[in-house]
Amino acid sequence: MLNVPSQSFPAPRSQQRVASGGRSKVPLKQGRSLMDWIRLTKSGKDLTGLKGRLIEVTEEELKKHNKKDDCWICIRGFVYNVSPYMEYHPGGEDELMRAAGSDGTELFDQVHRWVNYESMLKECLVGRMAIKPAVLKDYREEEKKVLNGMLPKSQVTDTLAKEGPSYPSYDWFQTDSLVTIAIYTKQKDINLDSIIVDHQNDSFRAETIIKDCLYLIHIGLSHEVQEDFSVRVVESVGKIEIVLQKKENTSWDFLGHPLKNHNSLIPRKDTGLYYRKCQLISKEDVTHDTRLFCLMLPPSTHLQVPIGQHVYLKLPITGTEIVKPYTPVSGSLLSEFKEPVLPNNKYIYFLIKIYPTGLFTPELDRLQIAGTGFTPMVKILNYALTDIPSLRKVKLMFFNKTEDDIIWRSQLEKLAFKDKRLDVEFVLSAPISEWNGKQGHISPALLSEFLKRNLDKSKVLVCICGPVPFTEQGVRLLHDLNFSKNEIHSFTA
Ligand code: FAD
Ligand code: NAP
Repeated sequence: MLNVPSQSFPAPRSQQRVASGGRSKVPLKQGRSLMDWIRLTKSGKDLTGLKGRLIEVTEEELKKHNKKDDCWICIRGFVYNVSPYMEYHPGGEDELMRAAGSDGTELFDQVHRWVNYESMLKECLVGRMAIKPAVLKDYREEEKKVLNGMLPKSQVTDTLAKEGPSYPSYDWFQTDSLVTIAIYTKQKDINLDSIIVDHQNDSFRAETIIKDCLYLIHIGLSHEVQEDFSVRVVESVGKIEIVLQKKENTSWDFLGHPLKNHNSLIPRKDTGLYYRKCQLISKEDVTHDTRLFCLMLPPSTHLQVPIGQHVYLKLPITGTEIVKPYTPVSGSLLSEFKEPVLPNNKYIYFLIKIYPTGLFTPELDRLQIAGTGFTPMVKILNYALTDIPSLRKVKLMFFNKTEDDIIWRSQLEKLAFKDKRLDVEFVLSAPISEWNGKQGHISPALLSEFLKRNLDKSKVLVCICGPVPFTEQGVRLLHDLNFSKNEIHSFTA
């Protein structure tokens, strides 16, 4: 989903800059919108003139295709016949012709690096550039090395490392249960916005934004770790600590092996975009055509978008990946709860206007809210606490895997602290060993303890929502606990 935020605002080539370095748009002819282009690419028409054959293109061959009706452009080693796209290019035909018959990568990156050309131009792919043997370089030796705290440096690092003592570095250390990766940025203005961490399976990736560069730690970890991790920053010395939890309490001999671009400082303009799969958690109408979308980051991601920065959302639209920029907002300003609360940094909120005739926003609007049974409870809680004067008690029992999965935890705790009529109980099925709250799945023991009636004749309504098996089991248990049909409301389709 997201691109990397930058320290300067707006970023040097950001779309938020007026006249930000040559990106201008031209009026397109009727029938030449992006949607029309997607339709053309799906029509089965031969857009390369090669009947689906892919060829190897030499520099000499590329140069020959430099006219509007026969225009090939190379981007990152792949050659595209862009003649059919000319009239659809939002920047105009002349702009596209600037790269005709040549390598347009730099120009492309300068103007709109975030555009997903691989997907949009896939039907125009002519083939790869022929590689000159002299360019080949064997990095295999590098890949074989392991990381043991004495850092093997990549090619890029070695070059930049010579530039002086301000070059960032990292180290790692361990206890029985934890592995800490420390990044020494040697910058004093580092904060939690400056570091983005992702780990999936054994692949660990930490990007630190250092001025106009990214310092990348990219490692295949030697042992398994839990999804959950924490990140802290010691601003005074510019140190970042990422604390991973071992799955098994064994001693690690080495941290892992280096993956692509590991331990290198890369100018931000040369880094690719890295997308994360997010879940749509909630969608609220703000006006008749504008909605507040809440997306949840994967549990294995740490990312805080700096104020004023935008990110890119990507969706497949009739088979083509479309990317559009959006500026996160603070969810709490417009949250269901009346007072401002701290946003939990696992969630990113967007205020997005839906254009019925637009390409991206109607598709976004059609996305289903990812199955969280919490959503209906938000309105019920708010209604119960504000609109039922005779209400004595509201209890929320919230089942999740880990603490990271708890939606709006801080808001709920704050609300429960402020309004003593509300009790909140978090129950985790896969907690860390330090968790001292309730554990397990829905069960008679958990429900009977939590749902004790205060008075025999008190009026009660138990609402239950979640995955179908959870809800069905919950309803059965409630019957067993002598709650009547009228006292149980389950949210099912
Ligand atoms: P589009 O397909 O772009 O269409 C928009 C409108 O233009 C429609 O009415 C459509 O019919 C019309 N149209 C499309 N093509 C043509 C054409 N060729 N000729 C005439 N009319 C045409 N938006 C937000 O809502 N929230 C944000 O936080 C946000 N942040 C942004 C941040 C940045 C830095 C930028 C640059 C933009 C931001 N936007 C934001 C705008 C967002 O990126 C999209 O442009 C917007 O959501 C519309 O996308 P769409 O694909 O649905 O509409
Ligand atoms: P809006 O509500 O449609 O319009 C806001 C105001 O601008 C209205 O008063 C409108 O006048 C006026 N306006 C519209 N066109 C104008 C023009 N040509 N000259 C002078 N005034 C004009 O728009 P919005 O919802 O605020 O914003 C939607 C736009 O913002 C989209 O194009 C989106 O791409 C962009 N956007 C950009 C960013 C970013 O960070 N760069 C972030 C979010 C959105 P009327 O009331 O008379 O229509």
